[in-house]
Amino acid sequence: MSTTCALCQRVFSEPIADPQAIQEHHLRPEARATSPTVTLCRPCHDNVHARFTNEELRADYDTIEALRTADRLREYVEWIRGTETLRVQTTTSNRVREMRR
Ligand SMILES: [Zn+2]
Ligand SMILES: [Zn+2]
Repeated sequence: MSTTCALCQRVFSEPIADPQAIQEHHLRPEARATSPTVTLCRPCHDNVHARFTNEELRADYDTIEALRTADRLREYVEWIRGTETLRVQTTTSNRVREMRR
């Protein structure tokens, strides 16, 4: 058995030792009851939420295709694809931090 991250499309064989390494992302945050979900690895999930506010995700990035082609994520996705890591330091972008205030 294996799990594929919907964003970076890395394939992880199961069982995965760290139960938090693979996570469900609600494509429409704060609308969890009706939101479709995708499976993301932890670094991708952290990055999505670090780079987009929930409002932006709901309005413009509520499909995996939109996230995959987002300029803000392109550099990250190219980088993570070349690694096997499931743990990265994520810093919330200043822009997102501003908007959360
Ligand atoms: Zn991923
Ligand atoms: Zn999420």
